[in-house]
Amino acid sequence: MSRAVLSIGSNLGDRLGYLRGVVDGFGDRVLAVSSVYTTAPWGGVDQDDYLNAVLLVEDPAFGCRDWLAAGQDLERAADRVRTVRWGARTLDVDVIACADERGEVRSDDPELTVPHPRAHERAFVLVPWLEVEPAAVLEADGVTRALADWIAALPADERAEVRRTELALVGERS
Ligand code: ADP
Ligand code: MG
Repeated sequence: MSRAVLSIGSNLGDRLGYLRGVVDGFGDRVLAVSSVYTTAPWGGVDQDDYLNAVLLVEDPAFGCRDWLAAGQDLERAADRVRTVRWGARTLDVDVIACADERGEVRSDDPELTVPHPRAHERAFVLVPWLEVEPAAVLEADGVTRALADWIAALPADERAEVRRTELALVGERS
């Protein structure tokens, strides 16, 4: 059994379609889906804004590594390509945190580092995560804080860059 927080993002091609593909791909394992947020890309290069969301997922037969493997399968299915435009990708699925029957999993294995070592400094992870799990805490560099406190510690301009959209990954689709 494991339960994970997944961050999904796309800034190339059918961005919303790729994110919906993750929700559809995980099917019954999906416990919660955040709103879709848009984030201006870093680096000032000419590329589309990111669309980002966070999913809470659970599976009685999955360990934490299975979420990474399944996410990578979905990335491949999305024809993930890296172009000369730095960072542009059809789909990125990151495991932000994962708990199994023994509790929160901690790993510094480069194949799967959890909690994700940069989650606490990424507004596009923290803001959608807070929406679906308001009571969650995150440990980084030996410090455990509520998500809202990590968000409050970010520079205001980084928080402001993450904007909620009216796009939906589940339910009514236009
Ligand atoms: P990034 O998401 O950092 O832009 P990639 O998606 O290309 O980069 O992932 C590179 C590697 O990161 C993968 O081979 C994967 O094994 C590793 N990795 C380590 N920890 C994690 C994690 N928590 N979630 C997703 N990938 C991870
Ligand atoms: Mg990734």
